[in-house]
Amino acid sequence: MHSTDRPTWASLEQPRFRSRRTVLFGTGAAFLGGLGFAAAQSDDGIPRSFPEPRRSSEDRGQSREYGRTDHPGAEWIAASDANYRVADRPSDYTIDRVVVHVTQSTHPVALKVFQDPGHRAATHYVVRARDGHLTQMVSELDVAFHAGNRKWNERSIGIEHEGFVDQPDRWFTDTAYRASAKLCAGICARHGLPVDREHIVGHNEVPGTDHTDPGPHWDWDRYMRLIRVSA
Ligand SMILES: [Zn+2]
Repeated sequence: MHSTDRPTWASLEQPRFRSRRTVLFGTGAAFLGGLGFAAAQSDDGIPRSFPEPRRSSEDRGQSREYGRTDHPGAEWIAASDANYRVADRPSDYTIDRVVVHVTQSTHPVALKVFQDPGHRAATHYVVRARDGHLTQMVSELDVAFHAGNRKWNERSIGIEHEGFVDQPDRWFTDTAYRASAKLCAGICARHGLPVDREHIVGHNEVPGTDHTDPGPHWDWDRYMRLIRVSA
């Protein structure tokens, strides 16, 4: 069991100081074997609890009906239940952050990896670059292992964006920005988050992380502007 402040891997992202070659090698290992580079990382380090009482979420009219998404229009593809912890947010943990990621992989690989129990990490949402298609893989009720430490997993919702941090022109498309901004605006509305950079952060801004995503080419001004007009 890893300590709770170790970074976890939401996908195939690269930490600082790793070469691209290493990342690509790791991608293959994680994808093919499920026990590679990414899987060597930890979940959020505490025992999983399930099933927990659902009364409070039922009181809010929420259900765990399979395929129910929190965001209208999102497609539901469940992550492996090894990659998140069942919870009852916001009754048990207040949601006050959105964490923005870039997958360092293609969309199909990201979905595969998050469905792999060996990966020990997943995110709530994945945004596809070419058309802004949204996939929800973990309920917002639950604690996905994406942010790199337990407290931040518990308080946040993770959005992964298909692509590579050093290829913004190819992957950070207008349609992806817009779809993600609409999603993020919805998250902020559902959970009462102010639309600002204190509450909407990059993975690189999570305390203790060694991840650099979404990277220097992520256009925060544009993203925040789009969230505001979507709100
Ligand atoms: Zn990340």
